[in-house]
Parts: sequence; C-alpha cells; structure tokens
Amino acid sequence: MDFEVPESLKKPLVVPQKTLMGAGPTNCSERVLNAMKNPILGHLHPECLKIMDDIKEGIQYLFQTKNKATMCISGSGHAGMEAALVNLLEDGDVALFGTTGFWGNRAADMAQRTGADVRYVQAKFGHSLTLEEIKEAFEGHQPVIFFLAQGDSATGILQNNLGEIGEICRKHNCIFVVDTVASLGGAEFRMDEWKIDVAYTGSQKVLSGPPGITPISFNERALTHIKNRSTKVKSYYFDVTLVGKYWGCFGPTRIYHHTICSTLLYGLREAIAVVCEKGLQSVIQRHMECSFRLQKGIEVLGLEMFVPEPSQRTATINTIKVPSGVDWKKVSEYAMKK
Ligand code: PMP
Repeated sequence: MDFEVPESLKKPLVVPQKTLMGAGPTNCSERVLNAMKNPILGHLHPECLKIMDDIKEGIQYLFQTKNKATMCISGSGHAGMEAALVNLLEDGDVALFGTTGFWGNRAADMAQRTGADVRYVQAKFGHSLTLEEIKEAFEGHQPVIFFLAQGDSATGILQNNLGEIGEICRKHNCIFVVDTVASLGGAEFRMDEWKIDVAYTGSQKVLSGPPGITPISFNERALTHIKNRSTKVKSYYFDVTLVGKYWGCFGPTRIYHHTICSTLLYGLREAIAVVCEKGLQSVIQRHMECSFRLQKGIEVLGLEMFVPEPSQRTATINTIKVPSGVDWKKVSEYAMKK
C-alpha cells in the first residue's frame, strides 16, 4: 500500500464548546442539535418532503410573504446570493449594487461572473444609502436588477428604507433583490408589503440553525422575469425553476433535483419553529433591546459606535470604533481568545 491511514484520524474527534459572538454562525440550541441526531431520510421520502413543506411555511412567515416560490438552496448564504443573481441575470444586463460595506461588492463579483454589466452606488462611509442617491443612480444606470444588503455585517449598517426603495424599483421596472442574511429576525422585514422581488437569508445567524441551507423566495414578478429569459440559467444546481419543482413550489409533482441534506432540514425546521414559538415580533424586539443596552454600555465606557445614526445600526451586529492608538488586530485577537 502506498498510502498509510492518517495518524490524525486514529484520534477521536474533538470539538470545543464556544460561545459564538460573531456575525454568525451563532450557537444552536439543544433542540436544534438534538433534531440533527435523527436518522437520515431519502430526499424524496414523504416524511422528508413534509419537513420541507413545514420549512417553506416557516420561511413565508419569516419573510412575511405569500410567494409560492419559497424554498431553500443547499449551500450557505453565498449560495442564496449566487442563486438569486444567476437566475435573474443574462449577459450584458445592467445590474446595480448598493454598497454600504462588503456585501454589495461580493454580490457584484458574482454578477460579473454571470456576464452582467455591473454598476455601483456607494453609500457615504458609515451611512446607509439615501433615497436621493438611489434615485440618481437609477436615472444614470437604468438597471435590470438592484441589489442591497439589509444589514451589512462588515460595517453594522442597516438599510432601513427598503419599502421606499421597493417603490423606486417598481417605478423603474427593476427587480429588487435583498440580502437579509445578517438581519432577518433582528430587524423588521416585510417582503410583500415592501415590494421586494427576491430575498434570501442565513440559517446560521439570527435563526441559530446550522449553516449550509439557505432560505430564499421569489415573487411572481421575479418568476416572470426568469421565464422571459432568452438564455438558459447558467447554473443547473441553482436553477430555481428546477429547485422549486423539487420543493413543490409549482404543483404537487416533485422532481429529483439533488440529494438534500436531511440533517440540515431537521435543524433548520426546529430553528424556525423556535422563532415561531416566540413570535417574530418578540424575537426582533429582543435583539433590538439587547443591542440598545450594549450600545448604552459602550457609550458609558467612552467608546463610540461605528455607525453614527442609531436608526441605521443593525441590532444583530454591533460595530464599535477602535480608538486611535489602539491596535485593532490585538483587540480582535483578544476577543477571539476570550
Ligand atoms: N450576506 C451577508 C450580509 C453576510 O453577513 C454573510 C455572512 N457573513 C453572507 C451574505 C454570506 O453567508 P455565508 O457565509 O453563509 O455564505
């Protein structure tokens, strides 16, 4: 034999207990962890499909939407982002990306790879985008889609005027895509009322579920846009017409699209059930109250929040300015150790 059994794999698995205080993943509850001990089910077993149906209803509640094309993408938040963009965009389409931190640029990178003509509207440092900035960018670029992160985890900036932006998108016949990976459950979000055409979120952040399975929803407007494409969606795995047929979004017949991880479905179902039990409004309220207390304490310590305007701060990610003369890397390393 040329290859020996690796020494490392002869030793038992070691996973430390950690309190996860970053933007995500967050700690899963015992209920979620226990759910994931259940036996694996086949991807088309009726019991598995029933769990998927439960999750679909849960996502509709979380997004506050009646969209039938509500499902999960098998993959982390990035997969939701890529699924949204690859389905909506064709070569040469003008795609406008609002940037309030990191995530607009990451999404733009993906859109560029699909062949879109990428444009940007950049918020002022530490601020969310104003309606005037967005209107001006729409006039200049006439985009097919507009992308925004509701909460940017790199800066802790909350875009708190999504309803008004939804109106602007309708007026310009533009598809509105919102990333709620770091914000859903920690900030108000009304997909239908705010005229948001596509939204996705992270299972492992506010929901405290396992990473690797991403809730996403498309409204009729987005589906019509996809139906009217002149070219095939450039990804088989992320083709939402196919994924939606597996998730039972377009009728009772289910197709085999891929082998879903039933373990992740159990975890996500229970994570969503916990939010449903507490009520979405009270979960949001709790995040806001905790954040508010933290912000007060930070001020008392003589420190400053990175986002000057309190209504533009995410409750889920609280960003603090490192005082001048202090090495941010050391602060970060200390926090990680402790
Ligand atoms: N969007 C936002 C706003 C995020 O905060 C993150 C994760 N930090 C992502 C997308 C990507 O999610 P994932 O790491 O699960 O792929």
